[in-house]
Amino acid sequence: MREQGISSLPRNYELVYQFLNTSNPKLILEFAALGRRPSQIQLDAVGMRFLPHHYPESAAEQSLDSVYKEMLGMIRMFRQDQSRLRKYSNVLGETSARVSRKDARDKDGMHTLRRILWSATGDTLEKSEAVIYQMVEQAAELTRLKSELEEYKRLCAIDPVTRLANRRAFDKRLSAIYDQKSGTAAQALIIADIDHFKAFNDTYGHQVGDRVLSATAAVMKKTLGSETFISRTGGEEFAITLDGTDLEEALKTAERVREAIASTQLKDHNDGLDCGRVTISLGLCMATDASSPQDLYHKADAALYDAKKSGRNQVKTYSPKVKRLLSLLKQ
Ligand code: GH3
Ligand code: MG
Ligand code: MG
Repeated sequence: MREQGISSLPRNYELVYQFLNTSNPKLILEFAALGRRPSQIQLDAVGMRFLPHHYPESAAEQSLDSVYKEMLGMIRMFRQDQSRLRKYSNVLGETSARVSRKDARDKDGMHTLRRILWSATGDTLEKSEAVIYQMVEQAAELTRLKSELEEYKRLCAIDPVTRLANRRAFDKRLSAIYDQKSGTAAQALIIADIDHFKAFNDTYGHQVGDRVLSATAAVMKKTLGSETFISRTGGEEFAITLDGTDLEEALKTAERVREAIASTQLKDHNDGLDCGRVTISLGLCMATDASSPQDLYHKADAALYDAKKSGRNQVKTYSPKVKRLLSLLKQ
């Protein structure tokens, strides 16, 4: 790829991989027409036309993984060949030395034979060493590419304002709760939403509003610890998943977060400007009370709605009362 002036981005790698393995003449022609050193825009245009569904990072990751494994397999194979050749070469060397000691009269004949044997095995050894060297270099590039991809994946899952997990990561997390063999026992979802945030933005401006989002995230992290999954699911809404908890404990945790936010004096990081305080409302639902990720989210959200309706700055749990509210909302 480097020789062709194509930077080693995961999506470029996917495109080249597909080009080398496809039987689609249109893709072959269009890719070949890009010539040497195509621009990223040209590459993306071809990629999007032919491989729109290959662009997600998981597909690129899979192909990268399979090429990586193939490469390691080949290196192993070459190394085995190399060691076999070395043994063969040693045997030949020893045999020829023994024969030449025994039959000094045929000095010239043995010398020639030895030279032929050495040059045949020596040459093959040299070539196989060169191939290994090249493959080790390429494997190192693949390793670099893998870590770039991992970094890219990490960034794909992070919200830039708060540095928390983003909506995408949250969706995955929620699905995982219902995919687990151990079931949904002892898992809870809390959705938190800043109260009257629109008014806050209107008073202090959007930029200070962003800092409040980040400060709110920091207080949540400090209160819950780095092991707890906290995400910003959008706007001024956050979601927390708790593992290994019963309803009572989950309620206590939600209450701790509410209290911590309400009692924190928010200050602008730049000029220390006092931004007052914000409060949050929280909705809680146990995973056992829902049948799917969507249902769990829907029910925790209904509990949050209940908390807002009841005056904000409080925690509500999904309950029959909320159930009634939910059915009213559906009508
Ligand atoms: P409620 O207590 O009912 O939640 O009222 P609210 O004002 O918080 O809710 P509403 O949904 O009416 O307004 C949400 C506001 O959040 C609108 C917008 O000004 C603000 N907001 C959403 N996303 C961002 C963001 O990324 N940055 C900033 N600064 N503000 C945001
Ligand atoms: Mg709000
Ligand atoms: Mg909101």
